[in-house]
Amino acid sequence: MNLVKCLELINFNPHYSLIKLKNNLFKTADQKRAISKIKTSEKIKTDDLDKKWLVCSICNNRITKNINKIEINSSHEHTFTNPHGILYIIRCFNGAPGCYTIGFSTNDFTWFPGYSWEVSICSNCKVHNGWKYTKGASVFYGIIKELLVQEK
Ligand SMILES: [Zn+2]
Repeated sequence: MNLVKCLELINFNPHYSLIKLKNNLFKTADQKRAISKIKTSEKIKTDDLDKKWLVCSICNNRITKNINKIEINSSHEHTFTNPHGILYIIRCFNGAPGCYTIGFSTNDFTWFPGYSWEVSICSNCKVHNGWKYTKGASVFYGIIKELLVQEK
């Protein structure tokens, strides 16, 4: 963008950001290409991480993927204490193919009002790794944070 074009933009739109002008004025085509390349590689890294599995920290069974991360009540991570005084930090996911549930569904002492819960276990080593929450058609898993690790 040349200076004349910038001045035209300011005349036609006084809200045109000065930062935007500065960014356009003082970067060469090569610099712009380099910046665009960096942004693209950052995006690829994020996409790769999304597709990666989070595995059971005990047996390495594939539990869920980063891409399944969700927020419940505006937070992905929650800290709760159960009626026995045991503290849990859980992470919320909209699916966890490496889990299955045991027992039955109940609303007793639920940490998420309106949601009933079932105990979730690792489908391989059977460790109790969290809870499956259900409210009508809405389902998510709260997986105990320390039992999930990034697959290597
Ligand atoms: Zn396991």
